Amino acid sequence: IRLPQPFGLEPPESRLNLRGVNQKEKAEKSFPMDGSVSGLAWLYDIEGYFGKRVDLEIISGYGENNEIREVIRHIAGQETGFDEVAVFYTWEFYSQLFYDISREYGIPVTFGSGVSIHNSTPGQVLFGLLKFLESNFDVSELYPLLNSRSLIPDTGVSGFQVVRCLRKAGIGWGKERYSLQLDRLLEGYESSRDPGKWDHADQGERDKAGDKGSETKSFPALIRETRDFINGLLGLFPDFTAENCIPLGQLSLGLAEAIDRYSNITGEADAEAREKIIQELQALAESVQSELPCDEAVKVLQEIIENIRIQKSLPRPGHLHVDSFSKGIWINRKRTYMAGLSSDRFPGSGREDAILLDAERTAISPDLKLGRDRSKEKVYSMAELLAVAAGPVVLSFPCFNTVENKELFPASILLQAFRLYAGDPRKDYSDLEAFVGTSRGFVPAGDQTLLDENEWWLRRQTARSRTLLAPVLRAFPNLARGAAAWKKRALPDFSFFDGKIPAERNLLDPRINHEMVLSPSGLETLARCPFSYFLRHVLRVKPLEEIIYDPGIWLDGAQRGTLLHEIFEAYFKTIVQRNEKPNFSAHREFLYELADEALNRARQAIPPPNDAVYDYECGDILESCRVFLRSEEAHAQEGVPVWFEFSFGKRTDAGADFEEPVYIEYKPGVKFALRGSIDRVDKIGPNSFLVLDYKTGSTYSYSVWEPFKGGRQLQYAIYALALETVLRERRVCPGAVVNEGGYIFPSTKGEGQRIIYKPIDREALTAVLDSLFEIMGSGCFNMSDSSDDCRFCDYQAVCLRDFLEEALTKKLEAPDLEHFWEVRSFD
Ligand code: SF4
Repeated sequence: IRLPQPFGLEPPESRLNLRGVNQKEKAEKSFPMDGSVSGLAWLYDIEGYFGKRVDLEIISGYGENNEIREVIRHIAGQETGFDEVAVFYTWEFYSQLFYDISREYGIPVTFGSGVSIHNSTPGQVLFGLLKFLESNFDVSELYPLLNSRSLIPDTGVSGFQVVRCLRKAGIGWGKERYSLQLDRLLEGYESSRDPGKWDHADQGERDKAGDKGSETKSFPALIRETRDFINGLLGLFPDFTAENCIPLGQLSLGLAEAIDRYSNITGEADAEAREKIIQELQALAESVQSELPCDEAVKVLQEIIENIRIQKSLPRPGHLHVDSFSKGIWINRKRTYMAGLSSDRFPGSGREDAILLDAERTAISPDLKLGRDRSKEKVYSMAELLAVAAGPVVLSFPCFNTVENKELFPASILLQAFRLYAGDPRKDYSDLEAFVGTSRGFVPAGDQTLLDENEWWLRRQTARSRTLLAPVLRAFPNLARGAAAWKKRALPDFSFFDGKIPAERNLLDPRINHEMVLSPSGLETLARCPFSYFLRHVLRVKPLEEIIYDPGIWLDGAQRGTLLHEIFEAYFKTIVQRNEKPNFSAHREFLYELADEALNRARQAIPPPNDAVYDYECGDILESCRVFLRSEEAHAQEGVPVWFEFSFGKRTDAGADFEEPVYIEYKPGVKFALRGSIDRVDKIGPNSFLVLDYKTGSTYSYSVWEPFKGGRQLQYAIYALALETVLRERRVCPGAVVNEGGYIFPSTKGEGQRIIYKPIDREALTAVLDSLFEIMGSGCFNMSDSSDDCRFCDYQAVCLRDFLEEALTKKLEAPDLEHFWEVRSFD
């Protein structure tokens, strides 16, 4: 095949370095252009240009996305059929952009070089499963696959239902935990005293997930079907070998089976992708026997599958054709678009191949292409293509890199094309810039064709007269409510939108509504930030509880605290039974044994991310046990622990000491209902008791001089009241007095210290409780006055306190908030 040679441009050596072709033949191979070629044939011979008309336009967009939208807009503005247009690109990324836009607008497009396998459901499932494997089977990697219905369970259960069961089972990560935790969940259900609540919870979550149409199944049936599906899926992943490697061939076969069995297929592209992925994986399985570390195996498979292209097609009637410019010479259509002509992409650098240098290539064979010739070849191919482009040509480039936030410049070939167009070789980049004019951005200008209603909205809303908002808000009342609420929140007065709700004392005041059962932590939340109390306890907005995979952490603060409580409780129960006092040298080994048992149990329930983290945290727990025992030995004469995890008002499957709430009469004739669990109660006199709470952190934010800390620290004092009431009313100790309470810090950070408040200031406590109940009864749930209270708050995303700082200062001066300030006044 003899190709035309653009004027003024020598073909690169590699084009002519064909074996057996001598210089004379080379010269003959480049034949002169005939009259049918485009004016762009003179791209590099402007002086030789004979006044031919160059039918050329140059456009640019703000980033690649806007560039291709402008190309589509341009095509739509012509009276040309899609199958009369070819779009070429200089960078593979553009095929993805064209694929996305073709799906968005339903444009029929053929892709000469196909599109990425990532665009298919089987591709997404495969890459998702590889991430799942690499993360040590972290359950959160499965959720997107199941929620998007890419992965379809084969046991009759829906993806949403599987996600719900897995969430409830508290899987975390680790292959072996799935079956184990699902079995535990099933056992929990079957032995529950109130199994109905599980089904109700399930229904509520299904409604939230929009899965209303799914068949109603009992919760155990859902768990069983989930377990069967998960076991089937996990069974396809081979086990790791003793060297912690994975057999690549077996893994490939397992993944091929998973794609075949579970991947959702919704069209031709998915069916093609499934076939290609399975073929590739099976071929790999036949050719490799090796075992690789997991991350390497994942990388190998990702690289192999990533190269698969789907939906490759020749130009077809009725379809726009999109392809790489390197193939453009073979496509003959009436209009040609060339996208991606920025200087950073075209012609690219002439860097040598780092594996086989140019000198080595030359020594091996003159036919091998050299790195330094690569950019020359690209320029030549582009000039060749432009020289034979049949009709009008539109060249485009992105003028900005929106990811790296930097300006981009047109490729040098664009300047050359402009010079040819202008018939003036002296034109420079500033002339080109003036010629191109304003780059097209996200908001379409008045002269641009609109592609969809979003662009219409954008144009209207950014116009000077923003007349759109009112009709939009009329059409969408929830948006209108949101906008109005936000406006109100930005005002200085404390209103309904800041947590001031109509006061319904009968409902909200616990002194009147005895159905309302409080907890000390709830009261501390109320004192810390009434608005967060309102969100959690009045509106009942709760964050999802997930076990999050963190390679550097095994137990979070609460889990670590629970584990230590368990160990200390088991220790004291034993030595009290033996009538012994804490003794470091006599009990140390025994305490460590208890700790080992508890650690093993915790390991079953919560998988450590790796052995190193597990060992480190075990060491820390044992060290806390040592600190605890030393501290207990030092205080051994001060009292005898008599109750641990003393609970009341909690109806749990594990049972409680007293299932009914305690009604505390904190001042004559006034009482409220409380539930809770006291970490430990020590007997310090014939009828005197001390309530203690374990804190596994440091003593930094505790002080004997601040017993209430503006209401943020109430637990020990409220528990003292509760314990006294329980012991007296239930006749456990009719003359009981609980006048002391505080905290023990049994950890390396806390150094085994104790902070005890004695006697508890009952008068102040009564005043704090009164003020708190007034806050509740009056329905005034303001945001906290201190941003320190927000540090560990779950509601930051909905509260948006940071944006309201200025207005908040004024709001906090509202007369309605006097009770809040009363609470704050108690140090
Ligand atoms: S972020 Fe701060 S102000 Fe907002 S609810 Fe939480 S604690 Fe209160």
